[in-house]
Amino acid sequence: MAETETVVQPEAFDLSQTGWAMRLVEKASNLFTVCVNDRIQYMNPAGRELLGAKSPIDVLGAELLNYIHEDYKEFLSFGLGVLAEEGDFIPLKLVTIDGRSLDVKLLINAVQIGTSEAFIVEVQDITAYKRASEAVQDREHRIKSILNTVSEGIITFDADGTIQTFNPAAETVFALTAKEAIGLHIEELMPKETRAKYRRIFERKISQGTSKMMGRPIEFEGYNRTKGEFPMEMTVSSTQVGSDRMFTAVLRDITERVQTVERIRHLAHHDTLTGLPNRHLFKDRLLHAIKLSKRYDKCLVLMFIDLDKFKPINDTLGHDAGDVVLIEVARRFKNIIRESDTVARIGGDEFVILLEELDTVESGPVVAQKVLDCLKEPIMASGQDCYLGASIGMACFPEDTMDAEVLMRYADEAMYAVKTSGRNGFKSYDSTLSVLGTK
Ligand code: GH3
Ligand code: MG
Repeated sequence: MAETETVVQPEAFDLSQTGWAMRLVEKASNLFTVCVNDRIQYMNPAGRELLGAKSPIDVLGAELLNYIHEDYKEFLSFGLGVLAEEGDFIPLKLVTIDGRSLDVKLLINAVQIGTSEAFIVEVQDITAYKRASEAVQDREHRIKSILNTVSEGIITFDADGTIQTFNPAAETVFALTAKEAIGLHIEELMPKETRAKYRRIFERKISQGTSKMMGRPIEFEGYNRTKGEFPMEMTVSSTQVGSDRMFTAVLRDITERVQTVERIRHLAHHDTLTGLPNRHLFKDRLLHAIKLSKRYDKCLVLMFIDLDKFKPINDTLGHDAGDVVLIEVARRFKNIIRESDTVARIGGDEFVILLEELDTVESGPVVAQKVLDCLKEPIMASGQDCYLGASIGMACFPEDTMDAEVLMRYADEAMYAVKTSGRNGFKSYDSTLSVLGTK
């Protein structure tokens, strides 16, 4: 670098001598300056305007360092020659004559002017650009922090079904890190057996954006890498990004909700003491069984069972002991029937058994005997052996009636006939019972 401190004579920058290139610089919107010995020898009008100079005199001869922000001054101590070797724009801050600071990009080129080593410095004001990109970054940061903190899993995928983003809640839902998930097909989040089905739905409907599922919460089966299958609710929506269609899936694990609904449904249809189906569910089963029996030409036997002398157990040992007995009776009844048959508790000490898919009704008395036999063994409650019997009435479909209500009534009448004729036995309905008006 030249030693001299003198300002290069302005003739060196005579526009008429430097021709069209100089005129171009005069018109340029970026700041252009020529420095010799770190001092400004020339600055174009855009540069003077940027620095707030009223006339060329304000800047000519001044040190370039005067206009460099305090935080970046040390940076320039390397010398313009070293920075020129960068060959690229360097981001830093300038300070204008009136004290404003500007974000700029600075490019330094070394040139030879006469005998002097000079530097052409180009400065581009990026204050507005930086502000805009900071605003974008800020917005992105805010969106990211929302995605990171929401409890819903949020996944984006492209029209091929390839996962593009995967938020932390999705990582928990599927026990899969974002790194592992990104690039997988969306079907990989479902259980293996259902993937082919989901791929078809995806290819035919979702990727076209025509599915009725779009924008509506739909229940799917998901696959968690450690826990296995689970029910999830997912809402898929699509957006057009440039020429591409992008999809966003918002989802959550609904295992708890499904379990609660199942628990409520179970409570509504089952007896809380014994866990057996209640009267309500039993009626549904009976109607369904009648329908099937009609279609497949099968018989049914409906058995009404009322325990004998149950009340004295309550009265002598207490209600809790009575409960223990009822629970044990239910367990024994369940043990003696086939899986396709139904046992239900429809009242205090009243049970019903429905034998289904029978070719003949002959198995009715066989099962009735088993019911009586299974009660022979005493039941221990409150430290006491409790001996029980039962009165059982039976009615058959289609032999006695084809109507569910009537079938129930006939079995009840037959049971009542057993009660009145000494208890602990069974009886099939016959038409004389109704005529005699046993109940
Ligand atoms: P019967 O031989 O004529 O059938 O008379 P029983 O003593 O068995 O009495 P009944 O069938 O007339 O009445 C059933 C009794 O069962 C009445 C009620 O006190 C009792 N009970 C009803 N529900 C429950 C229950 O949930 N727990 C208990 N421990 N007892 C019940
Ligand atoms: Mg009874």
